[in-house]
Amino acid sequence: MENYFIKDNNVVFIEGVNDDFLMKKFNSKREYLCNYGIRSTPFRTELLEIFMENSYGLTHKDLQQRIKSNPDKATIYRALDIFLEKGVIHKVPGFNSVSKYALTQEEVSCHSENHAHFLCKRCKKTFCMNDLALPEYTNFNGFSITSARLVLEGICPSCAEQEVVVG
Ligand SMILES: [Zn+2]
Ligand SMILES: [Zn+2]
Repeated sequence: MENYFIKDNNVVFIEGVNDDFLMKKFNSKREYLCNYGIRSTPFRTELLEIFMENSYGLTHKDLQQRIKSNPDKATIYRALDIFLEKGVIHKVPGFNSVSKYALTQEEVSCHSENHAHFLCKRCKKTFCMNDLALPEYTNFNGFSITSARLVLEGICPSCAEQEVVVG
């Protein structure tokens, strides 16, 4: 199942983790990119679509497997750089040091990581926990805390389901 659909000309996201609906008001992918200050090209639109279709973090290899057009490596890297810089996507943690990227599903102005990430021990996928409230840290013993990263590990719903079937 895709994790977004178009309804009344809006892109409607279905959050992969808890199936909550996240509404965003954009008429097209072109408008979506424009909202982030990115000029859309056929490849950038394709790349955006790939991120929208996957509810978990994607590596370079994952992306290459999903890209159907034939861009050169420089085009892919440049598009990723722009998406990262403008906040369309963000880096997510993984089990090894390989870079993974996921669609940012929060306010455009907010580039900082302000949600927890969930690492599934079984399928090794990384999910954004956009709706899980983070504890608020301010200052502690003279340390001024400006950001926090929370990484949770466990079994994702889809792996848990398979376990039940097998068991
Ligand atoms: Zn899993
Ligand atoms: Zn995330």
